[in-house]
Amino acid sequence: MTKKDTLTNAVSILEELIAFDTTSRESNLELIAHIQSYLDNLGIESRLTHDSTGTKANLWATIGPDIPGGIVLSGHIDVVPVDGQDWSQNPFKMWQQDGKLLGRGVVDMKGFVALAMALAPVMRKRDLKIPIHFAFSYDEEVGCIGVRGLIDDVVKNLPMPRAVIVGEPTSMKIIGGHKGSRSLRSTVHGVPAHSSDPRLGANSIMAAARLVTHLENLQQELIRNADPACPFDPPYTTIDLGLINGGTAGNIIPEFTTIDWGMRIIPTDDGEVIEQGVRDYIDEHITPGLKKVAAHAGVTTELTNTVAPLVPDSSSAAEQLIRHLTGLNESSVVSFGTEAGLFQNAGIPAVVFGPGSITQAHQPDEFIELSQMQECVDFLYKLVDWAELDNPQEALL
Ligand SMILES: [Zn+2]
Repeated sequence: MTKKDTLTNAVSILEELIAFDTTSRESNLELIAHIQSYLDNLGIESRLTHDSTGTKANLWATIGPDIPGGIVLSGHIDVVPVDGQDWSQNPFKMWQQDGKLLGRGVVDMKGFVALAMALAPVMRKRDLKIPIHFAFSYDEEVGCIGVRGLIDDVVKNLPMPRAVIVGEPTSMKIIGGHKGSRSLRSTVHGVPAHSSDPRLGANSIMAAARLVTHLENLQQELIRNADPACPFDPPYTTIDLGLINGGTAGNIIPEFTTIDWGMRIIPTDDGEVIEQGVRDYIDEHITPGLKKVAAHAGVTTELTNTVAPLVPDSSSAAEQLIRHLTGLNESSVVSFGTEAGLFQNAGIPAVVFGPGSITQAHQPDEFIELSQMQECVDFLYKLVDWAELDNPQEALL
């Protein structure tokens, strides 16, 4: 097979992958079965880890020897919703135009998954000394949820890989670090009353507003204390405040208000400490006023999700490998989270490196350039050539 054939195959595989609506809220089992049967036909075994409902799964496959030290090609197969977006054609029927492929998920990130799959027959034929693994996950877009079960399975039951390439779109540049995140939900429980006599109630929206103001002040403080040498953009931890919900009518003092907030944390900050600071503020400045009206009133805050940061490490096995294969000698950092931080946290060095531009992710008429797909094919062939060397490890030195 030539590289040109491989690209052609990747495009038709991608078209098939796009046709499965794997928006995170949907089951992905049909797509998983599709990938599994493709690999089966090549004689490649795969294993699944399911979510608690059994309607979603991650897929793990190994090509080459069953030994530690493999290279993981990692991609999520869920996509963000198309709801409310203005698409010029059916987002789940891939189309081509001006050297681009368009459809929901082409760049984020079924394109990379299709490329890995297109290389599978090549990998299978070669005499790999180092295994290449596929790690395809569910529910990445709703907080990197699915991959956690896959990582647990690898760490507990399988030979430890040496490095992970998370193929999120980076325009084929090395991303060695990203921010982590914490998501929280605060629920203010007030006391309802007729709005004609506010003395009888505790207004949960007013209490919530004080939390909002505190978060705004906290953001200003984080900006003021930013280290100018911090490589991230913006160069400080940022506060998310995305959703607020409260009240039932204009003339009723609202009993409940919920606020979904959180932060995107630079690796040198401690998100737990920042979170505790907000909790302390609530306890000291918001809760007492509510409790004065009724003992059962107050604020509860729950941590709904955390994603580990990817701590930059230019000497990691993952970065070393990509530098060697591509000749690139620079890596940068981004502010969005990926699964790479979770792999690194589990002791498997990871980088983010993949085809297409992140600016296309989540957009209507999402596209990936064929030239980016081609560049990734070339890269994957280099990876395969390297894994076939008699002493791949030595080549890195
Ligand atoms: Zn993605």
